Amino acid sequence: MNGIGVSPGISIGKARVIKKVQIALTGILLKDEVSIAAEVERFDHAVNKAINEIEFIKQNTSLNLHEEDIQILETQIEFLADPQIREDVVEKISFGKRNVNDAVIEVIGNMVNVFENMDDEYMRARAADIQDIGNRILKHANLSDHTHAQQFDPDTIIIAEDISPSDTITMGKHVIGFATQAGSKTSHAAIIAKAKGIPAVVGCGDGLGAINNGDIVVLDGAIGLVFINPDQQLIADYTKKKAVYIESVNWLRQLKEVKPITTDGTKITLMANISGADDMEDVFDNGGEGIGLLRTELLFMNRDSFPTENEQFEFYKKVALQSKSKAVIVRTIDIGGDKQLSYFNLPAEQNPFLGYRAIRICLDRTDLFITQLKAILRAAIFGDLKIMLPMISNVQEVREAKNILALAKNELLKENTAFKADVELGIMIEIPSAAITADILAKEVDFFSIGTNDLCQYTLAVDRMNEKITHLYDPFNPGVLRLISNVIDQANKQKIHVGMCGEMAADPLATLLLLGMGLTNFSMGAAAIPVIKNIIINNDLSTAKRICEEVMHMDNSQNIIKYLKEFTA
Ligand code: PEP
Ligand code: MG
Repeated sequence: MNGIGVSPGISIGKARVIKKVQIALTGILLKDEVSIAAEVERFDHAVNKAINEIEFIKQNTSLNLHEEDIQILETQIEFLADPQIREDVVEKISFGKRNVNDAVIEVIGNMVNVFENMDDEYMRARAADIQDIGNRILKHANLSDHTHAQQFDPDTIIIAEDISPSDTITMGKHVIGFATQAGSKTSHAAIIAKAKGIPAVVGCGDGLGAINNGDIVVLDGAIGLVFINPDQQLIADYTKKKAVYIESVNWLRQLKEVKPITTDGTKITLMANISGADDMEDVFDNGGEGIGLLRTELLFMNRDSFPTENEQFEFYKKVALQSKSKAVIVRTIDIGGDKQLSYFNLPAEQNPFLGYRAIRICLDRTDLFITQLKAILRAAIFGDLKIMLPMISNVQEVREAKNILALAKNELLKENTAFKADVELGIMIEIPSAAITADILAKEVDFFSIGTNDLCQYTLAVDRMNEKITHLYDPFNPGVLRLISNVIDQANKQKIHVGMCGEMAADPLATLLLLGMGLTNFSMGAAAIPVIKNIIINNDLSTAKRICEEVMHMDNSQNIIKYLKEFTA
């Protein structure tokens, strides 16, 4: 089966199929009265959360709900509040000694069956609503307050319709690969898989539905192939390929202590993109020299409320303490788009990637923003933390953010809390207007970091999540290259730091071109660092400049890619 290879490597393991509601019957029986009472409480809590969630959707005027939609939501609330459902569930818990998951699955399953078999068409259609409320209850009953690793057997390959970024982080060590029906190269799940070195294939389509739990799966994350229950010969071939791949990775890792300096002496900085302190060991193992992007939104996921200032402080402090005094660029919360928080009911939007997200939320919800800024400023005492704002589209946003940063400092002063005042402030350049006005923005900040994942999607009007149009998602489009080149030029001219933390920084095909443009700071998933370092230490800057000169005169990406391939063979 073909898909899009988004994270290289070969996995041979057993399938674990994850359906949208990732909760199955456990068959576990409760042992005592205390656990029975706890399960009943968990059920009531989950129902309340589900009702609140639906109420929120219903009352959200920006959704422009039709009368019929509101009616469906009201029916769902009625079902949720139905004493009969509660009675049935509580009976299963109290007398059947079933846990909430099993009790809800059984009670809701029975109801769905009854409704599906009714003569009346309207009533039959209600079966889907009942299933939906069951899913909601299960979702809320299984949300924990803190991120937790899911339990999987060793050598598990996850097979799913789609995987959220938070699923990817909580997969744990036993997951050795994943394949999804949907997704694209720069979806966050793909980026995180790559950073963790988990082979992954996305966009496989409906064919994945044929895979069952326990099937043997071979996955080639470089070229995007998934084999289900292959014959012994194929398994033997891929076992060999895997060994060769691991050998080449290990060989590259030996470059850990080698400095990334071009053959003519230009020092390059290779940093890593991480999601938390747990990723830090991998960064240093791969020779990373600090953190070019700490994606803080992942700290906000897999919970059921916003982390407090202290919780955030502990999180950033842990990263700072493990950073060996190297720079750590902390990006302020970048939610919205494909990164949603279950407890922060963001309105459904026609174009979420163009909507209420990232810095736009922070400037609107200054309470959330100030809390995060205060936590970062406090943690900055323990390491070289810098603050970076995502999704900046104009200079006013930067100025507003600076004012809020000043307010955060003032609050800390008033509270007599220790913090570092002179923390550097930078912005991501990931919106075309920011790239075009880099000369203006450079006067306002200490550094830029080019986010090619979004810059490419916004410049080319290509949704980075849509697998149908991945062929149009092209960082080598001359339009994208001109924007990148302008940002680097303007930053270098005005002597502010400029780095790149989008996926292009990890693309070996782009390394010499970017060096030639004058980029000296690259940040990427830790696993890619040795590959990029190997290119840097084997080339000189004058060759890179000549390549860049040629490329910038070409009129289409096909020729550009063909030309660049000559230098990366
Ligand atoms: C980017 O847009 O290039 C980037 C690094 O940010 P994210 O992928 O988290 O949107
Ligand atoms: Mg981005």
